[in-house]
This record gives sequence, structure tokens and C-alpha cells, in this order.
Amino acid sequence: MAGAVKAITIAGGGLAGLALGIALRRRDVPVVLHEAGSYPRHRVCGEFINGVSEATLERLGIAGLFADARRHRSTRWFVEGEPIYDAELPEPAIGLSRYVLDERMAGEFGGLGGELRTKSRARPEAREGLVWAAGRRAERESGWLGLKVHVEGVPMEADLEMHVGEAGYLGLAPVEGERVNACGLFRRRDGVKGKGADLLWAYLEANGLHQLADRLREARCDERSFTGVSAFRLGRQDPEDGLCVLGDAESMIPPFTGNGMSMAFEAAEAAVQPAADYAAGAAGWDEAVMELRRRLRRRFRRRLFTARLLHPFLLRAAGRHALALTARTGLLPFTPLFRLLR
Ligand SMILES: Cc1cc2nc3c(=O)[nH]c(=O)nc-3n(C[C@H](O)[C@H](O)[C@H](O)COP(=O)(O)OP(=O)(O)OC[C@H]3O[C@@H](n4cnc5c(N)ncnc54)[C@H](O)[C@@H]3O)c2cc1C
Repeated sequence: MAGAVKAITIAGGGLAGLALGIALRRRDVPVVLHEAGSYPRHRVCGEFINGVSEATLERLGIAGLFADARRHRSTRWFVEGEPIYDAELPEPAIGLSRYVLDERMAGEFGGLGGELRTKSRARPEAREGLVWAAGRRAERESGWLGLKVHVEGVPMEADLEMHVGEAGYLGLAPVEGERVNACGLFRRRDGVKGKGADLLWAYLEANGLHQLADRLREARCDERSFTGVSAFRLGRQDPEDGLCVLGDAESMIPPFTGNGMSMAFEAAEAAVQPAADYAAGAAGWDEAVMELRRRLRRRFRRRLFTARLLHPFLLRAAGRHALALTARTGLLPFTPLFRLLR
């Protein structure tokens, strides 16, 4: 007689955790998901989903959730206020706010019979059946600050505008209706002060992006959407020994040079079969975790390596100048880089 199907517990209801939960529920695997917060909620994120294939979204069973989302095709790059490059994306990117997306995914998971426990903070322990998808690990000392706010009434020069400043950057990407997401990642600086969106504008000024700051100050700003995050480390997150980790909890690719949301979906896709095999009794937990790690390494090694080299370089003066020079002279290898990082 076949044994009972074992349950999977997921800690973290962001993109990786919810996508895995949905895909497992579609295979009738019992899933309990603990999310420390609740839905809907704004998150610090560029909300520009680039590099994920339709096939991955289909396999996860979430493609339908993006049916009404924007499809972005054009980008314009600016260095210190000067436009340097226009490019068409080799494949369209998706524009949807995390406020809408995470809530949709949570609803889908619940609708499929998943047990969602919000305001429930899990503990990272290497135990059988637990997948840790709780995002980046908190770091006491961190040099980075991520800030985001939604604005309206900003005429866009392309579907995505990327503005590179002295020690940080800001992306502008339309999401629902008239809303444009303004999201930046900056090196923290003492003495840059402000509350809510004023802090974001102050960081733009401190990074030499004065015109952009003026332009955004004139827009209608939804202060309730303002969120900020610090205390995180880019790259490998050094999880507890033996913990089964997924998404940012495993590795956080620098957002300027990588597609963290796409990687969260792809990581969930990689986890479905090992987790389902464990649930069905076809594999032990240790075997399933080893198989997942092998899949994640194979899938992300090249991207993480390329991003680790590029990110610090592009946020230094020499990197910015090289970016501007290669872009202006037509030598910027945009499409090859796009493919290396996807
Ligand atoms: C400034 C910035 C801009 C970015 N822009 C983009 C972009 O434009 N495009 C892109 O592709 N990626 C972008 N990213 C990266 C992207 O946001 C992440 O890679 C993606 O959200 C990772 O998904 P995840 O599910 O692994 O983690 P998260 O989405 O962070 O989800 C983790 C979840 O776990 C919950 N949680 C935390 N601790 C616990 C606990 N103990 N118990 C239970 N639940 C817990 C959290 O509340 C959260 O809901 C950006 C990141 C930053 C910082």
C-alpha cells in the first residue's frame, strides 16, 4: 500500500515561496506556508520582471496571474542625468507591482487549498520538509539602502528608465494604471536625511541626480507605498547548515545586474520535482535537498558570477564612464549581457 503524502512547510510568502506553494498544490501536495507579514503590502522592488520565460510561469501554474500586466519593451539609460543609450529588450519584461502580484499569488495558493498562515514568523531550522524562502538575511552592518515609492503623472521617456548616479541608481517602471514605480539602490551615506519619499529625493540629490529629483518631486506621490530596506548583504546569504533554501534566502543577486524576481520563480520551478518526490516518498529529504542544490547551482552559477563582477564596477566612477563611453560609441554589448544575466 502506498504511504500517505507528506506535507511541505514553506517559510516566506514572497515570490519563491508562493510560486513553489502554488505548483505543489497543483500536484496535490499538502503545503503549509508561514508568512511573517500579511497581504497586500508594498515591497522595495523595481517591479520590473525581466528574463522569466512564459514556459516557467506555465509550469508553475501562475502564467494567468500576469495576463493583464504591462509588457515593457524599450529602455533608456542615463548616467549622471545624461541620456546615453536606448535599447529594445530582446524579450518583453513584465510590469506589475508587488502590492498586486504577491496578493494575487497568495489568493491563488489559498484557492488551491494551501494553508496560508500570515503574521507567522518561522524559525530557520534544518528539519525534514521545511523549505526556507524567507528572503535575504538580515545583516547588522550593511552599506546598502533600497528605497521605493509609487508616483503618478510622470511622463516616461521609455518603458524603463535607468538613472545611474555617483553611488547608486534609480529605475522608473510603470506598473498598474498611471502608477510608476520609482525604486533605487544606494550606498548609505551619513548626513542624507528625510522622511518617506523625501529621503528618496535626498538620495537622488546626494548622488548627483538633481534633475530627476526635481522631476519626481513634481509628480503625485503615494506616500503609503513608500518602503525602505537596509541591513542586507548582496550575493550568497550563508544560510544555517543543512537548511533547504530558495530564492533570495540562498543568494541575492545585485538588482542592478540581475533579475531577482525571475530567479525566485526559476528557483521555485527547480524545487517542485525534488519536493514532490519527497512528499510522495520517492526520495528522502536529504536526497531531495541535494538535488535542489545541484539544480540551483547549475542554473544560477553563471549569472551570479557575472553580476558579482559587474555590479561593483558599474557603481564606481570608472565603471560609469566605461558604461557611458561604450554606450555612446555603440560598443555596449547590451544583448550579450542581457543573455548572460538571464
Ligand atoms: C532595491 C531593490 C530593487 C529590486 N528590483 C528588482 C527588479 O526590478 N526586478 C527583479 O527581478 N528583482 C528586483 N529585486 C530583487 C527581488 O525583489 C528579489 O530578488 C525577490 O523579491 C526575491 O524573492 P524571494 O521570494 O526570494 O524573497 P522575498 O520576495 O523577499 O520574500 C520573502 C518573504 O519572506 C517573509 N519572511 C521573512 N522572514 C520570515 C520568517 N522568519 N518567517 C516567515 N516569513 C518570513 C517576508 O515577509 C517576505 O514576504 C530588487 C531588490 C531590491 C533590494
